[in-house]
Amino acid sequence: MSLKNIYVTMPTLAPLEEVNELMKGIWESGIMTHNGPLVQRFEKEVGEHLGVSNVVSCVNGTFALQMAIRALKLKGEIITTPFTFIATSNSILWEGCTPVFVDIDSETFNIDPQKIEEKITYHTVAIMPVHVFGNVCDIEVIDVIARKHNLKVIYDAAHAVGVNYKGKSVFQYGDISCTSFHATKMLNTTEGGACFTNSEELDAKLRRIRFFGFENHADIVEDGTNAKMTEVHAAVGLANLKYLDKALEDRKQKYACYKNELSKIPSLSFQKITEDCNYGYFPVIFKDEAELLKVMKALNDENIYPRRYFYPSINAFNRLFPYISMPISEDISSRILCLPLYYTLTISEIEYITSLLVKLLNETDFTLDR
Ligand SMILES: *Cc1c(COP(=O)(O)O)cnc(C)c1O
Repeated sequence: MSLKNIYVTMPTLAPLEEVNELMKGIWESGIMTHNGPLVQRFEKEVGEHLGVSNVVSCVNGTFALQMAIRALKLKGEIITTPFTFIATSNSILWEGCTPVFVDIDSETFNIDPQKIEEKITYHTVAIMPVHVFGNVCDIEVIDVIARKHNLKVIYDAAHAVGVNYKGKSVFQYGDISCTSFHATKMLNTTEGGACFTNSEELDAKLRRIRFFGFENHADIVEDGTNAKMTEVHAAVGLANLKYLDKALEDRKQKYACYKNELSKIPSLSFQKITEDCNYGYFPVIFKDEAELLKVMKALNDENIYPRRYFYPSINAFNRLFPYISMPISEDISSRILCLPLYYTLTISEIEYITSLLVKLLNETDFTLDR
C-alpha cells in the first residue's frame, strides 16, 4: 500500500513561516550565538513549559551528559544501563570515567535498582540511569542507594521531554538531569540538549563549563569547553515548543491505537509503562529474534522502516568495554522493535502497519485452531 517510505520517526516541525520570523530577528540583530536573546528565551520558555527552574541549553544531549559529569567533578566508575543509546556510555568514557553496567528490569527495561548495590565498589562515584522510551526509572529506590553510598545521580532523560513523575517534571530529579533536543526527539532544535538542576551552584557551573570556563566574561574559573547552543538552534526550538503539547497529545492517541490493535496478537508483549510517560516510542517485543526479523523484512518490503532500538545491548560493544554478560538486556535487545510513531503519521498508516503484524503473527495460531 504505502508508496512513500515510513520511517521509525520524523521530526515534529513548526510551520516554516514561524521559524523564518525568528530568523529575521537574528539577521537583523547580527547576534548568532553567545547566550543570545533567543537562547535565553528558549531556556526560559522550556523552564516555564515543563515546570523547571534551571535550564542550561547546549549543543547536544551527549554534551549535556558530559557537562554534568564535569560539573560534578566525577572521576571513577559510573553505574549505568546497557539498554540505551551508545551516547550514554560514550559520555562516561569521554569524561575519563568507567561505565559499569547493571542489568535491566525485564518489564520496564530501565536499570534494575535491586542489582545496583552489588556493583558498587570503592571507585564508584555516580549512577547514570536512563528513562528508557520516556518510562520513569525507579527514582526513589535509586535515590536511597545513592544517599547511602554517597553517590551522585545523573539521569539520562534524552527520551523524557514532557514526562512527569509525582506531579513534577522528571527533569527535577537527580543531581542533574540531561535531555536531548535532537531532530528525532520529542522536542527538537535540530541538534541540541540541556542540563536541568535544582542547585543554583551547579546551574552557574554548567553555564561556565559550556562557555570555555569564563566567569563574567573575565576570569577563567573552570576547565570549560565550547558547548553553547546557537541562536539559530534556539529559534527552531522556540518555534517547535509551541507544538509540543499537541505532539504529546497526538503521541498518546497513536500509542493507544497501536496498543489496542496489537493486543490482539498473543505472542507480542509490551513495555510496562508509567502513566505520566510521554508515549514517545512504540516498542514491541517478539517471542524471539527470528520472528522480529521476519516482521522487519515484511515491513521493509512495504517501505516501512521500524528500528531496532536498542540493538545490540551496549555491553556487547567489545571494542569499547570488556564483555560482561547482561542476560536480560541482551534478551530484550534481540527481540525489541520500535514501530513508526510521529506527528505526521496517520491513523490509517498505523492501522495498515498493525494489520500487517496481525496477518504475519496470527496466521500460524489460526491454522492451529482449525
Ligand atoms: C539521543 C540520545 C542521547 C544523545 O543525544 P544527542 O542529542 O543525540 O547527543 C543520549 N541518550 C539517549 C538515551 C538518547 O536516546
